[in-house]
This record gives sequence, C-alpha cells and structure tokens, in this order.
Amino acid sequence: MFRCELCQSVVPAGTRSSKVILVTRDKTYDERGGGGFASRGGFRKRGPSRGASPKKDYDKGGEGQEIVREASVCPKCAAEHKRQLDLESTDTNEGAE
Ligand SMILES: [Zn+2]
Repeated sequence: MFRCELCQSVVPAGTRSSKVILVTRDKTYDERGGGGFASRGGFRKRGPSRGASPKKDYDKGGEGQEIVREASVCPKCAAEHKRQLDLESTDTNEGAE
C-alpha cells in the first residue's frame, strides 16, 4: 500500500498505483549522434552507412518536454488528472492512432 501524493489518502494493497506527471518544462534537445555534422573529427562516412544503425544512434534533437515532478497517486486522482489533461489538450488528432 502507499499514500496518494495528491489526496493523501492511503491506497490499499493490491491497488495499482499510477504515476502522473505534475510539472513539465519545455526542453530543447541538441542534435547529436552519428553522421551529419558531428563535431568530432573522423566520424563522417561517405554515402549511406551500412551496418550501423543510424536511427538508433542518431538523435536529431528538437523540442520536447522534460518531467520536473511526478507523483504516485491513487486511481481516482489519476483519472482526474487525465481528465484535466484531456480538457487542456485541444489540439489532438482525432482517431489518428
Ligand atoms: Zn488520490
């Protein structure tokens, strides 16, 4: 059993705890990995690289979100949290997945 970090109620044993993300912050990821314009010398290969797995090693960077704080909560709070997220996110693609 554990204590819900949102409503402070004790959740009985056997109840699955849910992790909810309370605070996130925007983060910009730098481009890194193989190929491209790697700053380390001698890493560039000519043409398409074979054998290596560029998709795995190469991180094109970009923008994302970093978790600042998350909490273990009871299913009730998790559902409530999810509901609020659904309300906030108005730009989701309908039926895309
Ligand atoms: Zn709770």
